[in-house]
Amino acid sequence: MLDASLVQFPKDTRRFQQFIDGRWTAGASSAEIVRQSPAHGRDVTAILVGTALDVEAAVRAARIAFDDGRWSGLPSSARCKLLRRVADLIRRDAEDLAMLETLEVGKPITQSRGEVAGAADIWDYAAGMAQALHGDSHNNLGDGLFGMVLREPIGVVGIITPWNYPFFILAERLPFILASGCTAVIKPSEMTSATTLRIAELAAEAGVPAGVINVVTGTGPVVGQAIVDHPLVDMVSFTGSTNIGRSTMVNSARHIKKVSLELGGKNPQVVFADANLQAAADGLVYGMVANAGQTCVSGSRFIVHRDVAAELQKLLLAKIARITVGDTLDPAVKMGSIISPVQHAKVLGYIERAKSDGAELLCGGGANTELLLSVLPTLFAETRPEMQINREEVFGPVASLLTFETAEEAIALANDTEYGLSAGIWSTNLQNTLQAVRRIKAGRVWVNTFMAGGPEMPIGGFRQSGIGRESGIYGVEEYTEIKSVHIDMGARSPWLV
Ligand code: NAD
Repeated sequence: MLDASLVQFPKDTRRFQQFIDGRWTAGASSAEIVRQSPAHGRDVTAILVGTALDVEAAVRAARIAFDDGRWSGLPSSARCKLLRRVADLIRRDAEDLAMLETLEVGKPITQSRGEVAGAADIWDYAAGMAQALHGDSHNNLGDGLFGMVLREPIGVVGIITPWNYPFFILAERLPFILASGCTAVIKPSEMTSATTLRIAELAAEAGVPAGVINVVTGTGPVVGQAIVDHPLVDMVSFTGSTNIGRSTMVNSARHIKKVSLELGGKNPQVVFADANLQAAADGLVYGMVANAGQTCVSGSRFIVHRDVAAELQKLLLAKIARITVGDTLDPAVKMGSIISPVQHAKVLGYIERAKSDGAELLCGGGANTELLLSVLPTLFAETRPEMQINREEVFGPVASLLTFETAEEAIALANDTEYGLSAGIWSTNLQNTLQAVRRIKAGRVWVNTFMAGGPEMPIGGFRQSGIGRESGIYGVEEYTEIKSVHIDMGARSPWLV
């Protein structure tokens, strides 16, 4: 039995309704989904199983709220102030939000606290983007013509999010979408909806008008699909697996709906012979086990120069041995549970397959019996590029080692994937580093660090890792339409005389 004494396990299951048009409502739903903490196996939250009728109500509310200008018509300074107030309320309720995130996702409480604090900072930053957004002008079209480029909010945005970072991922999208003047209908993962529902509540408390943020809970094939199919939704922002992203794109085509897709990855970490190996070992392990490896930008393929492979391997194993896997409510714990029994079995299946494919298991390779649904950090050596372990996204704390001799080989290995989400480069040589930065196909590249950054920087993927960019000014512009305006400045020369 786990010892949850350090942070109190809540006595009651928290029950949520849906949040539509500024109020809590059961809507057309009558069934519930009860979520158990994956680390404890105890009920923690319950949400409603939304229906297509609920999506209809939410989309209508968002449509009206957009079309009547109650949000997009505000001065940007007013939108900015309201979004900043949401950031303040997130800070006020940080402990509650972090608890919900930890209980539903199964991640350590210190990690959830960090994510909630980081999310509040993103809301603050995105608030400023409401005022930073601007168009352009062309004063060089000749004496008779003046050109303006206007950016207008695209309209109603459907936001579909995954379970791994429900609060943080929403913070990377929703405040930017709101800053642009759009309204939103959000469908969080059915396993981790609580903090999304809480943010809708906090935004209402901050004074964001009714209908601007709507949350419909439930399953992807019903609620998610209905959002994607709805003709009054102008754009879909989807974050999740490449397969569902693909079907979202296909289904959006019916209404020529704009989509932004943030999908999976099989991300390389390249270690050159001149790297600081101590620093690299730390960054590699962090990139491998953060959120128990359930991170889209996880670095799961370690591509290491042959000359330093043995030494790096030793350093990696020493680091991994120090990772505390345990009760997610214990602030000393670094790694928690896998999200669900299905995902747990899937991760263990990948490990078994790597073993049977002939990879050498260096550590881990199974579950930690102290903690429900856990997987020990698992590292494989002697792998080949064509093995499944080097091709498919495991979404667990599992990585594989590959070796190279030339920089050319390293880059070819890094790019030997259908994905292009993120990459790490470890080197003290400027030429090696810049060559690799230029040639590796990935939306985010970290040099001598991993998973660092701030909301100023865009996020998104190359290839099958996605389309579009979130965050920074790019993440606001993504949700705008561009209108070019041509103004005649004098007597127009007639077309027919
Ligand atoms: P998923 O694709 O199964 O689900 C994502 C969301 O889509 C959920 O809300 C789900 O209910 C919904 N959904 C499911 N079927 C749907 C349908 N037919 N129509 C519309 N919506 C539907 O992904 P997941 O298992 O929740 O998350 C893990 C995946 O997400 C991994 O592949 C990971 O790499 C990816 N991910 C990517 C990023 C990124 O920024 N690139 C971030 C986090 C996670």
